[in-house]
Amino acid sequence: TGMDTITLITGANKGLGYESARRLREAGHTVLLAARDPERGQAAAGELAVPFVHLDVTDEDSVALAASWVRDQYGRLDVLVNNAGINGPSIPIDQATAADVAGVFNTNLLGVVRVTTAFLPLLRASDNPRIVNVSSGTGSFALTEKNSWWDPEYVPPIYAATKTALTKLTVFYAHALPDMRVNAADPGWTATDLNNFRGIQTVQEGTDAIVELATLPADGPTGAYVNRDGVVPW
Ligand code: NDP
Repeated sequence: TGMDTITLITGANKGLGYESARRLREAGHTVLLAARDPERGQAAAGELAVPFVHLDVTDEDSVALAASWVRDQYGRLDVLVNNAGINGPSIPIDQATAADVAGVFNTNLLGVVRVTTAFLPLLRASDNPRIVNVSSGTGSFALTEKNSWWDPEYVPPIYAATKTALTKLTVFYAHALPDMRVNAADPGWTATDLNNFRGIQTVQEGTDAIVELATLPADGPTGAYVNRDGVVPW
């Protein structure tokens, strides 16, 4: 269309979010770098020369303010990358309290719902709206049964359950929003702060699926769950 692509990425001050911001900016998107910490967010946005948006996915007011700022500045959103996430406590499920579980779900699942709900009106104003939910292969039964790296110390069970739920919700969003591409990305196990840099992929590799889903054409797939090699079984 020749129109600029406005792309907002949550948790983009470091790791996969930051690398996605860098790559999508390079691809010509107008990237809005969202982060919960103003200092870390502004520093990262400054490095990439992109606008910073203050957005804590656990805070309704912060999400609402971010959405109204984007509405005032741009009038719409083309791509929403729900990337912000936490690993949470590395404890076996029989030692977890409801509060432990609620904490991780609040960021990784409810955070996506808060942000998606707030930005839907802006996405509806786009001619090719895309939502990329950064899920994880750890949420897939099919993958984790096969993978030898499945270890509750490396991949906390609560975290994995948040990603199973996120992939499932992604499919429901896709059905509910037939005019949008709504997909889940599995980055693959990538060296970032989330896993104390034990992941085996680079952030370049880890962002391949995210970048692909963020740049889909209007007739691209929706409700899919993909990694950099293709469709993920789950
Ligand atoms: P990082 O820890 O490097 O980055 C996580 C980002 O999320 C940070 O910017 C962090 O901000 C932000 N964040 C955390 N809580 C909030 C919040 N409440 N509001 C806004 N932002 C928040 O990890 P990754 O880059 O690895 O993780 C990015 C996504 O990729 C996550 O959803 C993760 O689950 C997923 N993923 C990662 C894999 C991996 O192997 N690394 C594999 C599969 C999925 P701050 O700096 O302020 O803490």
